[in-house]
Amino acid sequence: MISVEEARSFVLPACLPLTPRQMAVDEALGCVLAREVVAGEPIPPFANSAMDGYAVRARDTTAAPSLLAVVGSVMAGQSPRVAVGEGEAVRIMTGAPLPPGADAVCMIERTRTQDDATVVVEVRVDAGTNVRHPGEDVADGEEVFGAGSCLSPGHVGVLAALGVETVLVHHRPVVGVLSTGDELVERGGSLPPGKIRDSNRHALLAQVRQSNFEAVDLGIVGDDAEELAVAFERGAARCDALVTSGGVSVGDLDMVKVVLDKLSAGTMRWMQVAVKPGKPLAFGTVASGTPVFGLPGNPVAALVSFELFARPGLRRMAGQRRLDRPVLSGVAEVDLHRRSDGTLHLMRATAVSDPGGAVLVRPSGGQGSHMLRAMAGANCLALLPDGPGVPAGGRVELLLLDADGLGPETAGFGLPEARS
Ligand code: AMP
Ligand code: MG
Repeated sequence: MISVEEARSFVLPACLPLTPRQMAVDEALGCVLAREVVAGEPIPPFANSAMDGYAVRARDTTAAPSLLAVVGSVMAGQSPRVAVGEGEAVRIMTGAPLPPGADAVCMIERTRTQDDATVVVEVRVDAGTNVRHPGEDVADGEEVFGAGSCLSPGHVGVLAALGVETVLVHHRPVVGVLSTGDELVERGGSLPPGKIRDSNRHALLAQVRQSNFEAVDLGIVGDDAEELAVAFERGAARCDALVTSGGVSVGDLDMVKVVLDKLSAGTMRWMQVAVKPGKPLAFGTVASGTPVFGLPGNPVAALVSFELFARPGLRRMAGQRRLDRPVLSGVAEVDLHRRSDGTLHLMRATAVSDPGGAVLVRPSGGQGSHMLRAMAGANCLALLPDGPGVPAGGRVELLLLDADGLGPETAGFGLPEARS
């Protein structure tokens, strides 16, 4: 058996970042910039008001309250038609350009008006008050995002504000998923004797999509060398990587092994990893360097193995720098038993953040590697090193699969109330 790290050190270097492509910003959420973005204009583009109020000359308000003559108004989207001279003010709305001569805005709540022509500014406003300066968020010519940035909705907003329509990104890896095994049938219809429905393919396709990769369904292939060879060759021709499940352990009909050994020209490595679930793992490249992840057939093992090996490799292909889920430290809510067997156990578990900030961990259901239901209820994998496990109240590390799942089940952040 080899360690998880050793298996990964074989897998990851073969997963090379994909050739960058120009992509519409609106399609590129979650993709990684292959080239920096330099601002071609400033944000904000011009000095504008942060408040509804009156644009003034700060020095006219030093002896507040000050009576000023209202010489015009400017709304958001307009260009100012008048300047602010000595003893004058211009009514201004949030986002409207600051008129020439003005250097501050007094918010409307600190003013009084007797008629349309005059305003009393009740407080002193310093120069720059309530003024948004051009380029104070992003300066013209500045590198706003470096290569390697993963685009979030915030990035999309900044790029839109800059007028950027397309970006150079590593495209989403196109990942073909197939299931192997004579026992598998597609869902729908009754179940013939001895057959089971294919769950791995659907769950793996979902994992692929959840990770922001592009999923291609390559169907079910029986334990037949010729059929398998055709499926892998066709898959490699249209996909950046292939994920298969089943046929990688030591069973009788391990045609997958025979076929992949041939197609990979011997690069395929058949591993026994010291981890449970997910012990058998095959990895190599076919065609001209297309990575093939041969995941175990047992449903939980397939999904866990995807998390440990395929997802990080595919993220590397997507140009990501952070390849792994975060590891948090939690507290066992109950005894987390295991037996010593020379492997790291990944317990399907539920982690909940309690109001005091501790993360409480408990199993999410039955732990057999065929018991998929506990995977559905898990938002983390508790890492139980070889040994007897962790007693209730003990520290346990966990691989966080779903950060949203840590949150409370009822609405509300539990934040202290602010009063204005
Ligand atoms: P194998 O590694 O092919 O011997 O498969 C190990 C176990 O996983 C067997 O019980 C298979 O029936 C089961 N299995 C393999 N592929 C799938 C699949 N796509 N969906 C559900 N179970 C599967
Ligand atoms: Mg099989």
